[in-house]
Amino acid sequence: MATVSFKGATRVYPGSETPAVDRLDLDIADGEFMVLVGPSGCGKSTSLRMLAGLEEVNEGSIYIGDRDVTNFPPKERDIAMVFQNYALYPHMSVADNMGFALKMQGLPKDERAKRVADAAKLLGLEEFLDRKPKALSGGQRQRVAMGRAIVRDPQVFLMDEPLSNLDAKLRVQTRTQIAELQHRLDVTTVYVTHDQIEAMTMGERVAVLKDGRLQQVDTPLGLYDRPKNVFVAGFMGSPAMNLIEAEITDGGAKIGDYVVPIERSLLAKAGGDKTVTLGIRPEAFHIADEGLPVRVAVIEELGSDAFLYGAAEHTTLNQQVIARIGTRTHSEKGALVYLAPQPEKVHVFSTSSEKRLSA
Ligand code: ADP
Repeated sequence: MATVSFKGATRVYPGSETPAVDRLDLDIADGEFMVLVGPSGCGKSTSLRMLAGLEEVNEGSIYIGDRDVTNFPPKERDIAMVFQNYALYPHMSVADNMGFALKMQGLPKDERAKRVADAAKLLGLEEFLDRKPKALSGGQRQRVAMGRAIVRDPQVFLMDEPLSNLDAKLRVQTRTQIAELQHRLDVTTVYVTHDQIEAMTMGERVAVLKDGRLQQVDTPLGLYDRPKNVFVAGFMGSPAMNLIEAEITDGGAKIGDYVVPIERSLLAKAGGDKTVTLGIRPEAFHIADEGLPVRVAVIEELGSDAFLYGAAEHTTLNQQVIARIGTRTHSEKGALVYLAPQPEKVHVFSTSSEKRLSA
């Protein structure tokens, strides 16, 4: 086990002007499950590959424990990586796939067999050890790929979108299994995904990246409750937080004719801006007698939850709004409802800097 630290780690691909990863500072604790999340192209895989030694670090450094591994080749880093496509050898049995790296390391046959058997037991793969990968389901192949990493007993696991080849239902099951397994093995893990739900459900902490820059790192709920900027606010949470530009007025911020009450001291932080950006999660709205008038476009009824999608009346761009409402409320398409936000749940951001102004 070991800590992992990125210290100003930067990667500029040859021929590119802008860094793919720009001065990344990130400390990962011993045994921690850290998720790197962000939209496609934000630099997640490059960060992971720098840690793996598969990508050059142009500036800054990377530590595993107290070892500066910045210039170490991959095999000297004591890490094991699980790739998106699993990269299993088709002509080898499951057991041989799992034991291959150990064989390369020159580990004696008995020791190899023991480690493979232990990992197979842990992963429920015992009955498949003699099969070839093509005779396995997608979920079983995924577990073999995990097994291959586990048998190596590394200091750090690196996982790059390991669930992306599974169907939706299996993905949900497998993410719980991986999180549970990681917890049991207690090995420091860096996990890359573009899926914010995966990040929220699996990570002990989550690092959100955009355009090669770290935006925020916090626990899932820390990110959800106190996003540092408009990007994190909009990226984490599903359906997404409503982000509404509202005109600063006496005692609040105005969306169309409706004023959301906001403390004067908070509005004062907006500097010279004439507007603030309000962040209101769907569940922070409720249907009330007074509130923001919204014309219902669609009600998404999920049984356990229901979401109302509509456009706020009297706003310039027919501001789109999403609210979680009680199920079976029977609001109809075209109806006018009044949505009131819970004042303590309204996030306030600077419109110009996009940074959080609320406490
Ligand atoms: P993510 O994993 O978040 O989708 P990547 O780390 O793969 O993002 O890519 C970050 C940026 O670096 C993107 O703009 C991508 O186009 C660029 N990039 C990735 N790999 C290479 C490469 N081998 N050569 C040049 N540019 C690359």
